[in-house]
Amino acid sequence: MTHETRQKERQRDADRAESTDGADDIDAPARNGADDRFATGVAPNADTEVLSLDSVGKSYGSEPALSGLSLSVEEGEVLALLGPSGCGKTTTLRLLAGLEPPDTGQLHLRGEEIASAGTDTSRPPEERDVGLVFQDFALFPHLTVSENVAFGLAGLDDADREARVAELLELVDLAGRGEAYPDTLSGGQKQRVALARSLAPEPDVLLLDEPLSNLDVRLRVSMREEVHRIIAEAGVTAIWVTHDQEEALSIADRVGIMHDGRLHQIGAPEGVFERPATRFVASFLGQAGFLSGRIEGDRLATDVGPIDRGVLDGVDGPDATDGEAVDVLVRPDDLRVTPASEGHAHGRIVRRQYRGPSFVYRVETTGGDVLHCLHNHTESFDVGQAVRIELVAGHRLAWYPHEEGSGDGADDRGVESEAETDAQAVLDR
Ligand code: ATP
Repeated sequence: MTHETRQKERQRDADRAESTDGADDIDAPARNGADDRFATGVAPNADTEVLSLDSVGKSYGSEPALSGLSLSVEEGEVLALLGPSGCGKTTTLRLLAGLEPPDTGQLHLRGEEIASAGTDTSRPPEERDVGLVFQDFALFPHLTVSENVAFGLAGLDDADREARVAELLELVDLAGRGEAYPDTLSGGQKQRVALARSLAPEPDVLLLDEPLSNLDVRLRVSMREEVHRIIAEAGVTAIWVTHDQEEALSIADRVGIMHDGRLHQIGAPEGVFERPATRFVASFLGQAGFLSGRIEGDRLATDVGPIDRGVLDGVDGPDATDGEAVDVLVRPDDLRVTPASEGHAHGRIVRRQYRGPSFVYRVETTGGDVLHCLHNHTESFDVGQAVRIELVAGHRLAWYPHEEGSGDGADDRGVESEAETDAQAVLDR
């Protein structure tokens, strides 16, 4: 199957998929025709499935680190597991690598059970065809680059081992550095050696645990592309754990978003960003604001004036009822503000964040909704300015049953994006 065909199948899967197990317990899901809203963790084609987890749970003491996790990964796919600190990403990798047993559920690799709760038949780590890449590189300091890469190739004769090491150093763009020692390499080079070492035995699955988080921000972005290229050229199936939503969206074929040990949603990057299954997903994937309103016939009455009901994604489904109170997901690029006199304003600017090329204005509407509006850096307005707010989204919008005091995305997820934090530090006037 070609990469394009796989992508199309995946997209189809995301389009028709159903709610993720357990999502309803943790956050009211979007009501945009729920049947076609949520992507399951099930890979689109069972014939090409490499790895699967079925209702996997793990607790440390009385605290569940993972609950009811079900997902599968297809041959050659890069799945990003994304979520805030403590959501269970590393625990998932540890269970897959055989470093921990599951308390519930089963894990399969290429159709064979590798672990099952309550049995002692788990395959030990060394017998699982799984490669691991850690954030701290974990290179052997006393071995050269070539010796590090050759570490897992004990079964090959000298000539084959040398050829495989040369091939891998070429792949990771380090040909000619084979005799160097790790402490003479940059962070990016060290991570490339670690990658080559993990790929050397040709694992079925490569597990990457925050592989770029020890690199500085600028290097992280370029290494993101580089690591992705290496994985694609090696043709290896990969699970890439990260808490960086931009990294996940840019490198993955599918993204699984986790919170409190549960999988909230899994699907193609565009699908999860544009059609988030829960408020948490909406808020974690970029800045999110929730505009509250009430469906009144063919309109939605809001603080920023009436909006055509048709702009709501899936509003024709059975869930949307006349008179229903809803919260509509609006991202900064969906809104614009213009200064207005007090009597005509929809709200007031309460904060402005300078981001170099742009400003993001945080606006509180007269009814108390908190929204973010993206503007060109030339459009400079003061905090306190009364404004009208215009919806300029060129696409349909996700919506959720109204929640009192749902607030804005940054508050919901308890963290602000790095860009937001940086900008805030520089210019919060
Ligand atoms: P981070 O991004 O910070 O690495 P994570 O999403 O990888 O977080 P995990 O490391 O999987 O999260 O941890 C999930 C939960 O399990 C956390 O509450 C953590 O404190 C707990 N936990 C993980 N390992 C252990 C352990 N060995 N003993 C006790 N609790 C643990």
